[in-house]
Amino acid sequence: MPLIVWDSPLKTPPPCCIFLAMESRGGRIPGLLFHRPVGILPRSMDALLDIRNLEVRLALREGVVRAVNGVCLQLSPRRTLGLVGESGCGKSMAAKAILRILPPRGSIASGEIWLAPREADGSPVDLAQLPANGKAMRRIRGSDISMIFQEPMSSLSPVHTAGNQIAEAVRLHQSVTRAQAIDRAVEMLGLAGVPHPEQRVNAYSHELSGGLRQRVMIAMALCCRPRLLIADEPTTALDVTVQGQILTLIRRLQQEFSMAVLMITHDMGVVAETADEVAVMYLGRIAEHAPNAALFARPRHPYTVGLLESVPRLGQDRTKRLHAIPGHVPGPFEVIAGCPFHPRCSQRIKGVCDTGEAPKLREFEAGHHVACHLYPAKEGAA
Ligand code: SF4
Repeated sequence: MPLIVWDSPLKTPPPCCIFLAMESRGGRIPGLLFHRPVGILPRSMDALLDIRNLEVRLALREGVVRAVNGVCLQLSPRRTLGLVGESGCGKSMAAKAILRILPPRGSIASGEIWLAPREADGSPVDLAQLPANGKAMRRIRGSDISMIFQEPMSSLSPVHTAGNQIAEAVRLHQSVTRAQAIDRAVEMLGLAGVPHPEQRVNAYSHELSGGLRQRVMIAMALCCRPRLLIADEPTTALDVTVQGQILTLIRRLQQEFSMAVLMITHDMGVVAETADEVAVMYLGRIAEHAPNAALFARPRHPYTVGLLESVPRLGQDRTKRLHAIPGHVPGPFEVIAGCPFHPRCSQRIKGVCDTGEAPKLREFEAGHHVACHLYPAKEGAA
């Protein structure tokens, strides 16, 4: 009789719960012991993307960096989730883990990344379990999930025209002729607001302005109508007018294509304008997660409060110094006991915040989650 250790978020295994793999993430386990069921259906799949306890490690020569540390996120169809935080807090690593394009020394140490099926009768798939370069993952990249990178100049090929690059993405996922793929490229460039798309389809990236290059990237990302668009700092390299145009364009195309958007940025202004919900990251963890209006009206975590106070405001006394969060982001190999933000937090409680485990993300008010000892979980919340 096999011994089964049930280590799943599911309360009761569904009838279709067949252990698809007999391997735990820690290593192969002999046939009689299942440490963790792999490849089962998640509890509910209302969300398009459901990330559970994601841990990403970078094995560097100097040591192991815990780039993403127990992140849980859900993203519903047609919604925008803003993921914010300082550079190096793990936002982009989390996004790359979803697409399974982590750098060579990066790996998913544990966690689940469930993607809802395209068809109503299909099954969700755990992206964390798929081989990064396997057929299934290559099919998902581009056709189900696409990504816009922050620097279009280095993301676009300098030796291929805009049209050829978009057409290549189309032909990877659809069986169309080259001429049809180029027609699709022209159509997408037009949708992305590129003027004279039939001419620009033959342009190289160095012949385009920064704003046009970003529009080409957007056209390329959306050419196969993905269900989820990951926009990683899509406006960082652009001036403020073009920034506004690109955000409006992403919003328009999101509605047109009924996409969900994961907007990764360090700019609170971008998030305020675009996101339905906001998750604030610090040192690889989610510090606060709330609906947009609640987060900006009543930020709770001292780190979120600090970030919002650092944003310059119109009409602000120009002789006053801008607020800055004291201290600095710890080095990647620094181990901090207790709350990872405590060395910089003006509200830290001695003997509580600086010892033991990091505080868990708990629901403090309906839909408002905070990882801070100042905010206990609301009654009945996990
Ligand atoms: Fe500050 Fe303590 Fe809250 Fe961390 S847990 S943010 S140190 S008050």
